[in-house]
Amino acid sequence: MKFENTIAFAKGLDEKDPLRHFRDRFYFPIMEGKEVVYFTGNSLGLQPKQTQDYVLRELEDWASYGVEGHFHAGIPWYHYKDFLSDSVATLLGAKKEEVVVMNSLTVNLHLLLVSFYRPTEKRHKIICEYDAFPSDLYAVQSQANVHGFNPDSSVIYLKPRNGEHCLQTDDIIKAIEDAGDSLSTVMLGAVNFYTGQYFELEKITVAAHKAGATCGFNLAHAAGNVKMDLHNWNVDYACFCSYKYLNAGPGSVSGIFVHEKHFGKNLPQFAGWWGNDPDTRFKMPRKFEPVKAASAWALSNDPVLTMAALKSSLDIFDEAGLANLRAKSELLTGYLEFIIGQLNTKIQNTKYKLEVITPQDPARRGCQLSMIAHGLGKDLFNKLTAAGVVCDWREPNVIRAAPVPLYNSFEDVFRFGEILEKILMN
Ligand SMILES: *Cc1c(COP(=O)(O)O)cnc(C)c1O
Repeated sequence: MKFENTIAFAKGLDEKDPLRHFRDRFYFPIMEGKEVVYFTGNSLGLQPKQTQDYVLRELEDWASYGVEGHFHAGIPWYHYKDFLSDSVATLLGAKKEEVVVMNSLTVNLHLLLVSFYRPTEKRHKIICEYDAFPSDLYAVQSQANVHGFNPDSSVIYLKPRNGEHCLQTDDIIKAIEDAGDSLSTVMLGAVNFYTGQYFELEKITVAAHKAGATCGFNLAHAAGNVKMDLHNWNVDYACFCSYKYLNAGPGSVSGIFVHEKHFGKNLPQFAGWWGNDPDTRFKMPRKFEPVKAASAWALSNDPVLTMAALKSSLDIFDEAGLANLRAKSELLTGYLEFIIGQLNTKIQNTKYKLEVITPQDPARRGCQLSMIAHGLGKDLFNKLTAAGVVCDWREPNVIRAAPVPLYNSFEDVFRFGEILEKILMN
């Protein structure tokens, strides 16, 4: 599409956007009487207006039924997580039995590594990104440590080529092949939180399996953002959080994916009663009888209040449809990229430049664009904030902006560009 940097053009795209009405289903923070330009759905998604009703319903059922709510609540709490699985499975390209919502993200990453990182003297290495999210770095390093290995030699970090910011798939595969039979598992962020690069999960999985290793992904920046087909891609394990693109609220419940080929194999795992077969759970068997599903990894009974918040958002995703969201997302982020390009032309004779480090290919990114603000410091971010833009700043000078297709508009993107221009031209 041929874009134009005018408010009329942006409004025209909004009018044609079949998903435009979903914006009204979310609360936008207000600054000086005006909705902010919210480009931080990659960090904390906005609150759906229906979330309060969903949570309130559970509080009311608790008031009405007490413990009987486990079976008599509108959504019986005993099975609450099962009411989330269909929507989650659709977002991840998984079978319903391959997903379960539980715990928080880093906890889940550890639980999965307990099963899928089984180092031996010969095969003890983990591959992850050099620029992985810190919690993921700590998780893989401490896992190596717990098994008696030195993380300095057991963790292999993938670094971009000199002068580049993203990883090339060929280099990732080469690193896997080089590690060969010393490699236990590959664990990458499916969409890197920093660059916004969406890795080629299937090719990486094939390479890991060829080396005799397992392969897993942290979907924190992928779930609800990009299309995935985890089952068919034969991915072994994955975890996701629900408070970023999935809009379930601060610190809300996480979840995992385990490929069905691993069910019933008695993989080493940490066990709890909620992973026991629900048919025998209340017979209180002394020996753990894992259900043949990803929920075998569940430990505790469901945190219903935060799950209700997640359900309120997943219902909106079901309505909107991920394919529709992706179609809009490519256009919306493409428009942001175009606006940044226009701005760079205008400032080409200054010492400033906004260098987008996220891949240009829409298939290799979600909605986020990460930009290095050359010649600019935190002052730019402070001015953006003061002008009503909520985006994310990482030292020394990287801006991350994520126009989210579910609630952001083309007008938001135009306004973002207009505000940036005003700051840079002064
Ligand atoms: C957001 C994020 C986390 C945060 O972990 P929590 O346990 O939810 O605090 C971890 N890893 C990645 C890749 C993330 O993007």
